[in-house]
Amino acid sequence: MSERAEIYQRLRERIEQLPVIDCHEHTVGPQGAQENREPLACLMPGYVQSDLAAVVYPGWPEGNFWNILNDQDVPTEEKWPLFEPIWRQTEHTAYARVTKRVLRDVYGEEELTLAALQRIRERLLNLRDPQVYGQVLDQAGVRCRLVNIWIDLKKYVAGEYQIYERDRFMIPLPGFHDLRSWQQVWDLTQIMGQTVTNLDDYVECCREMFGRMKERGAVGFKDQSAYNRTLAYDNATRSEAEALFNRFMADPRAGLGWPEAKPLSDYLFHHFMDMAAELELPVQIHTGHMAGIRNEISKTNAVHLIPLLELHRNVRFDLFHGNWPYMGEYLYLGKNYPNVHLDLCWLHIIDPVYGKNLLSEGLGTVPHGKIHAYGGDYGDAILHAVAHLGIARDVVAAALAEQVEWRWIDEAQALQIAADWLFNNPNEFFNLGFERVAV
Ligand SMILES: [Zn+2]
Repeated sequence: MSERAEIYQRLRERIEQLPVIDCHEHTVGPQGAQENREPLACLMPGYVQSDLAAVVYPGWPEGNFWNILNDQDVPTEEKWPLFEPIWRQTEHTAYARVTKRVLRDVYGEEELTLAALQRIRERLLNLRDPQVYGQVLDQAGVRCRLVNIWIDLKKYVAGEYQIYERDRFMIPLPGFHDLRSWQQVWDLTQIMGQTVTNLDDYVECCREMFGRMKERGAVGFKDQSAYNRTLAYDNATRSEAEALFNRFMADPRAGLGWPEAKPLSDYLFHHFMDMAAELELPVQIHTGHMAGIRNEISKTNAVHLIPLLELHRNVRFDLFHGNWPYMGEYLYLGKNYPNVHLDLCWLHIIDPVYGKNLLSEGLGTVPHGKIHAYGGDYGDAILHAVAHLGIARDVVAAALAEQVEWRWIDEAQALQIAADWLFNNPNEFFNLGFERVAV
């Protein structure tokens, strides 16, 4: 065995034992857990379907393949002939590897075949059982999860919604600044039971609401607007924003389009960054690759955020997903801006080699205290989040083994760095209050 492989193996075993803070999930806990009745639907939720879709030429396969695949009432035998030819072209991506890991680690099957699916059908875990759900997370070493969830905010603000004990709530920003209609303003301000008629009152209502959410336990803000708009937040003037706001407030039947609505979104986003500073809450921002297919990548490059990062120097930013595929820019932002931390949530199953290179190169370029190594980003399919975590631990071990092999660091340092990346850094950055892990 090569020296690096030996180092890797030793580190990997120790890294398996480290506790983890999962910096990004979309799950409400056992009550929202994936229902497990039909094996293919259970094994194929989420991202892997993007890879399946990416090999499907328009119009093929015939019919409503996705509905069939995801329907727990359609027998596996009926799905298999449609599914298999697409899977055979897809099965080596990292998204697909998550499925294979669940199959292997949870159900003891090495290969995805019809026979394997038939064997596991009667043994599918019931994740809606709070005990099973908790055990899965305990065994994986997931101490805490930062969740971006779409719950009843009125109840949350009123203290009538209980966040799952292991989780911490992130305030979901996009809907609050991407305003297009009277109805939207009405719905959002009704969370606070207020009726607003002008832009200033809307901003004040949001300020009060976010403050209340912090009192209820929120530990930061989360924004994934890059799915729909550029990350270039211009310094729109108040008058531009107010004119747009007033247009739909004066006529509930009016609506703004895009990019018409951009100055209002920009203006509000800057206000929300001021609120993040006042509340001392960090801001998580989606950058780089997006879930699904056929989106537009250049608008999501984190370099568009530079004016925002420079303006809001007292806001702590947690930039997501390794900015894939723009690694150089991402490392630069982490190195250059004291208020930027790098969050590799989701990255290790978008591109594990990129993740390994980023961590390896990042060790020499970005202070290691500024990197958060893992977030599942899987939602309610927690077996998949845990399989993803296994891949993330592989990636961390591979990056560190590379750096140990050429003597940049020794193995003891490598382990402490792994503990910091996976646990200590997010613990401190989000003020979670857990005891520091020393190895
Ligand atoms: Zn996400």
